[in-house]
Amino acid sequence: MAIDFFDSHIAPAAYEEVMACLKSGRLSEGKRVKRFEESLTDTLGFVNPVCVNSGTSALHLALVVANVGPGDEVIIPAQTFIATGLAVLMQKANVVFADCDPTTGNIDPADVARRVTERTRAIIPVHWAGLPCDMDELNAIAAEHDLAMIEDAAHALGATYKGKAVGSLSRMTCFSFQAIKHLTVGDGGALCCERDAEHVRARTLRWFGINRANSPTTELGERDYDLTEVGYKYHMNDLAAALGIGNLTNFLDRLARRRAIAATYREALADTPGIRLLAAPVDRESAHWLFTFRCDNRLQLIRALKSRGVPCTVVHNRIDDNTVFGGVRDDLPGQVIFDAEQLAIPVHEGLSDDDVTHIIGAIQAGW
Ligand SMILES: *Cc1c(COP(=O)(O)O)cnc(C)c1O
Repeated sequence: MAIDFFDSHIAPAAYEEVMACLKSGRLSEGKRVKRFEESLTDTLGFVNPVCVNSGTSALHLALVVANVGPGDEVIIPAQTFIATGLAVLMQKANVVFADCDPTTGNIDPADVARRVTERTRAIIPVHWAGLPCDMDELNAIAAEHDLAMIEDAAHALGATYKGKAVGSLSRMTCFSFQAIKHLTVGDGGALCCERDAEHVRARTLRWFGINRANSPTTELGERDYDLTEVGYKYHMNDLAAALGIGNLTNFLDRLARRRAIAATYREALADTPGIRLLAAPVDRESAHWLFTFRCDNRLQLIRALKSRGVPCTVVHNRIDDNTVFGGVRDDLPGQVIFDAEQLAIPVHEGLSDDDVTHIIGAIQAGW
């Protein structure tokens, strides 16, 4: 059977949860969203998760809650999906790109520190491929300059840093449950807020700015509310949450399988000429959304792997050269290296042991 690069896993329990939701006739945001949020906390250690309809919504909501606005600067990596930067532009703030550490693909804290100005308001690190960034260093910079820390953890569901869950490390953390992420609800996301006041504000703003818990229905049949600021239609619906509840039931097993496959790759490819594995710091555990490495003659390797039935991709090119961000820059030397050499092979739980052996063999056969 052909090997897929991504696998949208639907757990057996998900079929039952979704069917029960459909039969209930209650599809909008309700008790299933609440249950999914509670399960995310119980299973993965999320702090105050607020479920929304995409990872991009979570990022935008985080910036709104952090009061980032026109003229403010937000430091992000170029090695990410375009959504990270677009969320900043949605708030009419300016994107400042910091360099990449080519040994991990993650943002370089020393370069972040150099780019802080009077106008900096937030940092959005992205945990490339699922490996947590240097959060102690980054959170120290944020604390020193009073910046909001907003982790883009779209790749990092289930990752840990110094024994703590991603989703509990910083002021805010954003997740994605999009179709090709490790846990899908179709489209969805979550925003975790450490501070209670920000959590309440996120919860209110995800549904037009109306506080559902605190706006009783009057005799006229409509909620009694007085909107004080612009809100968004960003809430998750119960149908998506049902899929999430079901898919969460075996997520830890699937994550363990990803980690086992990644460990097999690391062992097998450690001494393969032309392959440079990324660093694997012992104080953190990757969620392995991707298995990225650096390589020589990338285009030739891509062609060789394709001819041997192995899908591979860079997944995301650097985003800073997009016209919306002002076009090409030349002040990101680490990014240049990573951008030229990085490549990812499949690492998901849908791979059989034979697939993994085949993928390793396809690389070792040379290019
Ligand atoms: C997937 C992804 C997003 C956006 O998530 P959506 O749920 O698709 O909106 C944001 N940042 C990164 C790094 C991603 O990979």
